[in-house]
Amino acid sequence: MKKTVKDININSKKVIIRCDFNVPIKDGKITDDTRIVKSLPTIKYCLEHNAKLILMSHLGRVKTEEDKTKNDLSVVATRLSELLEKHVTFVNATRGEELEEAISNMKDKDIVLIQNTRYEDLEGKKESGCDMELAKYWASLGEVFVNDAFGTLHRAHASNVGISTYLPSCVGLLVEQELNALSYLFNPDRPFIIILGGAKVSDKIGLIENLLPKCDKILIGGGMAFTFLKAEGYNIGNSLLDEEALSFCKKILKENEDKIILPVDVVCNDEYIDTKGTIKDITELTDNDMGLDIGPNTVNIFKNNLASAKTIMWNGPLGVYEFKNYVKGTNDVLTYLTEINAKTVLGGGDIVAAASACNVEDKLYHISTGGGATLEYLEGKELKGLKNIPEK
Ligand code: AMP
Repeated sequence: MKKTVKDININSKKVIIRCDFNVPIKDGKITDDTRIVKSLPTIKYCLEHNAKLILMSHLGRVKTEEDKTKNDLSVVATRLSELLEKHVTFVNATRGEELEEAISNMKDKDIVLIQNTRYEDLEGKKESGCDMELAKYWASLGEVFVNDAFGTLHRAHASNVGISTYLPSCVGLLVEQELNALSYLFNPDRPFIIILGGAKVSDKIGLIENLLPKCDKILIGGGMAFTFLKAEGYNIGNSLLDEEALSFCKKILKENEDKIILPVDVVCNDEYIDTKGTIKDITELTDNDMGLDIGPNTVNIFKNNLASAKTIMWNGPLGVYEFKNYVKGTNDVLTYLTEINAKTVLGGGDIVAAASACNVEDKLYHISTGGGATLEYLEGKELKGLKNIPEK
């Protein structure tokens, strides 16, 4: 296990915390502050231990001057200050005199949030390209580095991998919690069932290859089920097909006949629109049919397989959950998971959004916020942001 903020002396020290404040913003307002809320435990812990907090985060992408205005991090300072009921000094700079002065004036328990680290991308991608001069400069502003940005752990940025090259480093409490919950899946209580959905098989090949040997069953729905069904020889009509993954599907179906469960019925439309669909057996699809959700018999088969599960991992929705006519399969299975006695981990942006819309978020064991980082970790890849962080 990596060293956490609890294993390092931070008393009265200048602690740089790399947070993930990459929140959605519309018309200058934060529409979902989950990521800020998730960063609070580490921030509060550091405040309780008399640290001086220097917070950093990226926000969106910055390729033009216009992007700077759109991705100004000052709105986060305001929200964070409300949540902590404490003043947060926002510095509208990523380097220079104003920033250095604000930091040198800090007292214990003060908080400084610096401007979006990706402002440094405008000239030469210094943040995203992990420019080591920039990393060294940022590291010179603090004494300890805490990486609590789980969502960017799979990227090598100046503000994570870079700074951790130059300072005593550890992970924050959010990263610790994510790693604990996800690593549990590598040695889970059995039966261990994986639910996969979403659009493209190709994006999930690494995940399937890594977790298939460890699980008892994989239940496949969503758009990606149709590439598997096509591999089995069914007519999938106009449903989503990931041509380049077809041979992979054929291969793993052949090798894991008993482990992989595919839909037996689907809800179809003849266009990609949110109007009422028709339930069809998977053998009945015609050339014009587009499968947009799993059908009721499939939901029952999935439930039967999940009934005795001890551990469940789910990535990707089972239908076009953004359409009210095609969210039922996903919601029925999500609700069922709140009724059984299994540890469920949800990973990846879309299924997390579906769970939030279905109000089941708080009833499940762990909701992983990482997207790309979650997938790469589950694929068994080393997360770049952890590279320089010592073990306990
Ligand atoms: P992913 O990022 O691969 O998890 O894919 C998520 C997307 O898959 C969501 O936007 C869903 O609308 C989409 N999706 C799920 N089921 C289907 C389907 N049957 N046909 C087309 N798109 C789907």
